[in-house]
Amino acid sequence: DTALVWFRRDLRSFDHAALHHALATSRRVFCVFVFDQAIIDKLPRADRRIEFIRDSVAELDASLRQLGGGLLVLHGDARTAIPALAEELQADAVFVNRDYEPAAIARDDDVAQKLAEDGRILHRLKDQVVFEKDEVLTQSGTPFSVFTPYRNAWMKKLQTDINGLQPYDIDSFAAHFADPAQNRHAHMPTLAGLGFSATNLKELQLSTGMSGAQRLFEDFAERLPQYDRTRDFPAVKGPSYLSVHLRFGTVSIRGLVRYAIEAMRTGQGGSGAATWLNELIWRDFYFMILARHPHVVDRSFKPEYDAVVWEEGAHADRLFDAWCNGRTGYPLVDAAMAQINQTGYMHNRLRMVTASFLVKDLGIDWRRGERYFAEKLNDYDLSANNGGWQWAASTGCDAQPYFRIFNPVTQSEKFDPDGKFIRRYLSQLARLSNKHIHAPWKLAATELEDAGIVLGRDYPQPIVSHEEARVRTLQRYGVVKKTY
Ligand code: FAD
Repeated sequence: DTALVWFRRDLRSFDHAALHHALATSRRVFCVFVFDQAIIDKLPRADRRIEFIRDSVAELDASLRQLGGGLLVLHGDARTAIPALAEELQADAVFVNRDYEPAAIARDDDVAQKLAEDGRILHRLKDQVVFEKDEVLTQSGTPFSVFTPYRNAWMKKLQTDINGLQPYDIDSFAAHFADPAQNRHAHMPTLAGLGFSATNLKELQLSTGMSGAQRLFEDFAERLPQYDRTRDFPAVKGPSYLSVHLRFGTVSIRGLVRYAIEAMRTGQGGSGAATWLNELIWRDFYFMILARHPHVVDRSFKPEYDAVVWEEGAHADRLFDAWCNGRTGYPLVDAAMAQINQTGYMHNRLRMVTASFLVKDLGIDWRRGERYFAEKLNDYDLSANNGGWQWAASTGCDAQPYFRIFNPVTQSEKFDPDGKFIRRYLSQLARLSNKHIHAPWKLAATELEDAGIVLGRDYPQPIVSHEEARVRTLQRYGVVKKTY
């Protein structure tokens, strides 16, 4: 009659499937979070995500305490720590929300087996997505690999399953929370105690926890009607910035979808709500792709693209380094890389531009860029990141065709027309005109001097010619041409 709820990427105390089911079926419910050494030992010692998680876990603990419970916090290897804690608490069952990443599935299988050896059960529940990999299928029962028909089928399924969006009740079962006050694990580790140092998270005013997500959401709700018109312009506060909260579950996906649907129904969401809902469906889509096709983790979704040969060696390493550090000489690309390096966020349009630039202008393997984003992004999520990279590299499902190659200058002129975003991150270019800020090398040296710039000294010369790179890329992808 005792249950343990193991929190992972679902750091909230409301509308939570695992917590609800544990409370509804057990009389004594303990809650635990593990700072899993198998994951965190690999991270750099200053990592915004660890700080985000620590603060969010502290808020979760406070919120559970208010409900009469509290959080046990472990620092160790989850594979052994969870079964050991279940034993210590004499829990009959452990409840988790299902994870879709291959490594997490393997870990959960392992924990389930260890628990089973002692007669305990691991219950895995759907919580992170609206629909899982088997719930939205083609008429012949196969998974979709193209987004638009998937989206249509997803919407249709939602109409018949709208109750699935109802929030999971927690409060009515609050009497079932076990108070962990006497337990030796009932204390919150400090960042230093976990072996990490502080980042610039506070300086960035990146709001953590359920309360932070709520603030961002309220702010975004005002802008939602314009989302479709503003979302592509990185200098504009267009998107929701909720990705890090969706990543760590400080917000409920069901709550967001409910809101979007309701805003569409009442018309309050203007033309923005449907576009935003589409993005939330992309999120489900890529979770489904990862769950169905785990080979995408290190190979192309479309196997024939594994034949593409990427640039390697010292020259490629130098190009990659320039890209990572925002020294390509293409201002929009460099400003975008400065954004991810300084804040851990990058605007969606810029993720597409920088990914395309790495793969199609520099000829570098998408997996190297994917890994770099994985290290830097606060909202890093294997499914969406891999999906985004494979989209940009044309190796993915429903990807950009390989012969469609973003022109980094045209993208800049179109989506940052006044150079406002570029100026925010590349102050040395601030005095260039709106017209010339996108491609400074096109100006004569005297004109550059008037703006106080010497190329090669204050700002790099372009490291590649886009026109030449374009030709090389078409050749590179020639090996897969026959598929079109
Ligand atoms: P909003 O525009 O407000 O969108 C709302 C939510 O919808 C997002 O928070 C996100 O959960 C979801 N979403 C939006 N676009 C996508 C998409 N294309 N695919 C899947 N979900 C989406 N998103 C991540 O969450 N983590 C990643 O690691 C990630 N890596 C990416 C890498 C590349 C190369 C590309 C092109 C895109 C990547 N995205 C990733 C998708 C997208 O860029 C971000 O979700 C978005 O920029 C987050 O900002 P937001 O919350 O303000 O988005």
